[in-house]
Amino acid sequence: MRLTIIGCWSPFPKTGEACSGYLVEGSSTKLLIDCGHSVFSQLGKYLDYTRLDAVIISHFHPDHYADLYALRHAIRSAIYSRSRTRLLDLFIPGEPVSMFSYWSEVPEFNVIRIEEKTDSSIGEMNLTFYPTVHSVPGFGVKITTVEASLFYTGDTAYHAQLENGATGVDLLLAETTMLAAETEYAIKSGHMTTRDVGFLARKSCPGLLLCTHLWPGYSREQIETEIRSFYTEKFIMARCGMQFTI
Ligand SMILES: [Zn+2]
Ligand SMILES: [Zn+2]
Repeated sequence: MRLTIIGCWSPFPKTGEACSGYLVEGSSTKLLIDCGHSVFSQLGKYLDYTRLDAVIISHFHPDHYADLYALRHAIRSAIYSRSRTRLLDLFIPGEPVSMFSYWSEVPEFNVIRIEEKTDSSIGEMNLTFYPTVHSVPGFGVKITTVEASLFYTGDTAYHAQLENGATGVDLLLAETTMLAAETEYAIKSGHMTTRDVGFLARKSCPGLLLCTHLWPGYSREQIETEIRSFYTEKFIMARCGMQFTI
């Protein structure tokens, strides 16, 4: 399995980069997790979008789904020009109902409602979804193939069930939105601090911790220093364009 960081910023991207977008490629399947601001234009650096098999939207905040509008038109164009013949599988939460209804009616997408702890699959990838604790309903997702496993937290405050998804995975892709001093605000807004992410990694022992969903206003060094103080094993701060073979 190969992971490419298409974008790692929240809630707005740095110039020339993108918000949440993670391309996961297996032996025969190409899956995009989240499609936030600027993800569509950045995706083209790594993959011809007509080859995408599926997209998962973790929740309906613009930094995770805004470029779905661009992708929709691109897929429509590809179908019209016959460079693609099939619909694109789109996994989305059932709420807000208005958003679910809107995307369900887009003819270029085959919409699949994400259900808690329901196993799904796309090609050789098995998908298990875990509900988040956030300001809108959302899901983290564990992706497993015969050779590798990855858990993406989505946007979420720390909660004990995160460990169910994260324990023992090869790669833990964890939102690391806030500094430790902002614990109160993190709980209120449904995000994790550096301390939370360090704690989750200590409890779940991933092969590699990858910290993402970074606020452009913080110094990367400050986030990194804090994580290092809470977690002594290997971790990496996400950068747009990074690739990992898991
Ligand atoms: Zn969010
Ligand atoms: Zn977000």
